[in-house]
Amino acid sequence: MPANVLFAAKPERWDQYRDVLPRAFEKAGLDVDLRLDFAPEEVDYIIYAPNSELQDFTPYTRLKAVMNIWAGVEAITHNETLKAPLTRMVDFGLRQGMVEWVTGHTLRHHLGMDAHIVNPEKRWEPTPPPLARDRRVTVLGIGELGLACAEALAQLGFDVAGWSRRQKSHEDITCYSGADGLKDALKRSDIVILLLPLTPETENTLDAEALALMPRGSFVINPGRGPLIDDGALLAALDAGHIAHATLDVFRREPLPGDHPYWTHPSVTVTPHIASETRAETCAEVLAENIRRGEAGAPFLHVVDRAAGY
Ligand code: NAP
Repeated sequence: MPANVLFAAKPERWDQYRDVLPRAFEKAGLDVDLRLDFAPEEVDYIIYAPNSELQDFTPYTRLKAVMNIWAGVEAITHNETLKAPLTRMVDFGLRQGMVEWVTGHTLRHHLGMDAHIVNPEKRWEPTPPPLARDRRVTVLGIGELGLACAEALAQLGFDVAGWSRRQKSHEDITCYSGADGLKDALKRSDIVILLLPLTPETENTLDAEALALMPRGSFVINPGRGPLIDDGALLAALDAGHIAHATLDVFRREPLPGDHPYWTHPSVTVTPHIASETRAETCAEVLAENIRRGEAGAPFLHVVDRAAGY
């Protein structure tokens, strides 16, 4: 009997996944009936995006797993109608996209590119940047994405630190954890990159007190989630010149409202939540592997710890 797989994401996503998923299922040797619609009690797996219309899982009585196609799960972890295991997306495409976006924006600030890309006054002021080894970069959140970014930056020669909930060790990265660890990490940061999940513990990680610990003239790069930053505190730190520039990909409200001060602030770069997109081709392989595991009675990959919130 085939496994019944419901695709529950925005309709425009279906166009990207409708051909790719069956190919991945076939490659994994799976017998799958993939559809946009089923009687709920017949569904074995749900391929899911939290902005789907499906929010009540109660009628899905034989569900084996809900497989989120996003890395972030803050919009579903608290859904009490969901009793089945919840997995999140960890895949090559997401990781690689994030590494490229983060290294690109880090290098922009490190090299001071803006001064030369737009220079209508034809200023000729040669101020070569320091070598990467003299630039201290800290990645807050060294999980799947943050660690890949931290390792890529270390490979480029940056002096890299990372902060996580549980203490880690890494031969190329100085590792911090806990509240005191955050303070130490921020004090040594010329560039701070936020790749934390949004949980009650991580909201407003960069508040006024945290920003004040960063050295004057440092940079903030946020591809994590908007509420990780206290926006008012960041704007005040930018206005005071304490933070030189913030590059922000994620916001409390998306799309970022037209009248938000970030749009016009000279020291803010807004990108429209593009740091890393789930790519159907690479994500389909992970989804197929998890269905294969479910059918074989093996543990799922990338299960969300719903108590921790990520
Ligand atoms: P992950 O593998 O779950 O890693 C999360 C990291 O944050 C871990 O190192 C974790 O610590 C740390 N952390 C969690 N709570 C913490 C706390 N209270 N204090 C200190 N550290 C804490 O997540 P991921 O796959 O790397 O993704 C990270 C986030 O990136 C996602 O949640 C999502 O919000 C965002 N994202 C954005 C985009 C975009 O396009 N902008 C795309 C994809 C993802 P431990 O290692 O100790 O668990």
